[in-house]
Amino acid sequence: MSDCLFCGIVAGEVPAEVVYEDGQVVVFKDINPKARVHLLTVPRIHLASLEDLESQHDELVGYMIRLQSRLAREQGLEQGFRTIINTGRGGGQVIFHLHIHLLGGPKLSTF
Ligand code: AMP
Ligand code: ZN
Repeated sequence: MSDCLFCGIVAGEVPAEVVYEDGQVVVFKDINPKARVHLLTVPRIHLASLEDLESQHDELVGYMIRLQSRLAREQGLEQGFRTIINTGRGGGQVIFHLHIHLLGGPKLSTF
């Protein structure tokens, strides 16, 4: 088993509440949700963070971002949603496999 938790989820070796998957990404519920809807979109390939991206990943990352509004709609977030990508320890990143947080629902804090 890979020592990367999200690679484990992608491989189906670590359980997760997967809401969507295709050839490029897996989307699952955050285990410690900060809002009514809190999903994580991860690429199937291991990329540690935004710092790892090269031009060859532009299509993948564009796809991941474009997917967010579709996921939000499917989750009933008609009023809008928030996306977050934490990068590096100073940016609050804890899991070093690139992921987009999708948050939405009542009680979303303002900042
Ligand atoms: P980050 O701080 O951006 O690295 O976010 C990591 C996120 O992964 C946190 O919001 C955690 O709650 C979430 N998380 C950690 N372990 C799991 C897991 N096994 N399944 C789903 N989400 C997880
Ligand atoms: Zn990984």
